[in-house]
Amino acid sequence: MLDMQHETFLRFSNGRAKAFTLSYDDGVAADKRLLKILDSYGVKCTFNLNSGVFPDKGLHNRMDEREALDAFKNCRHEIALHGHRHLYLTKVSKVQAAQEIVANREYLESRYERLVCGMAYAYGATNAEICDVLRSLGVHYARTTYSTGKFDLPSDFLRWDPTCHHTDAHLQEIAQRFVATSPLDERKARESYLFYVWGHSYEFDDNNNWHIITDLLDVVGSRDEVWYAANGEICDYVNAYRSLQWGIEDQLVYNPTCTELWVERDKKLYCIPAGATVHFDI
Ligand SMILES: [Zn+2]
Repeated sequence: MLDMQHETFLRFSNGRAKAFTLSYDDGVAADKRLLKILDSYGVKCTFNLNSGVFPDKGLHNRMDEREALDAFKNCRHEIALHGHRHLYLTKVSKVQAAQEIVANREYLESRYERLVCGMAYAYGATNAEICDVLRSLGVHYARTTYSTGKFDLPSDFLRWDPTCHHTDAHLQEIAQRFVATSPLDERKARESYLFYVWGHSYEFDDNNNWHIITDLLDVVGSRDEVWYAANGEICDYVNAYRSLQWGIEDQLVYNPTCTELWVERDKKLYCIPAGATVHFDI
């Protein structure tokens, strides 16, 4: 019946309505301490690495090549692009911008032996032309430095605005809101929550405030209702969800991807296995 109205909402891995992710830039020595903290809370992070500026010990104590490989090669977190030389991509030619990404990808993929398709913009600098360059080079997502203060998923992953930086004056308030409220308690606005925090770990050393990250993870870490995922896992999951194929009457849905997907429809949770077609009973 075409006049039947059904509202469907994305649910994350295993049907969860909330996800939490982190993004830390520049590959600095303080990342080693951050890794230990993140692992003790079971959360996941994306580390955005340059490839043509090591070591520059004068600048925020960047790791050299060996240290960075030791820290990240076999870690459970994601590594992503941050430009070969940390240039403002909007201040160089398109060709140079493309070279920044290609050289960065070549280096990271060969040394770390994994696909590297995510990115954080150096200085947050981007525009429509840079997004075109990234798209043509197979970059799936790129993080800006514009804080939304919200838990929304991005409509365009090449302009992925985080919730906030870890120095945001409202960080604790936002974290409390993330755990104390739920889309499942809403009547209409039942969109899943994504809480996305970014920063540089050297800021914790420079300002002697490592408690910021442990205070945050005391609130948001180790919770069954939250999916802890790296940026790329969230991007892949949401892109898979967005490629679900719906029947004309909204009763059938086909999952053409290799990812198990979860949908909430009329307040009921459904799993749509990889490659399966599901018929809704309402
Ligand atoms: Zn940076």
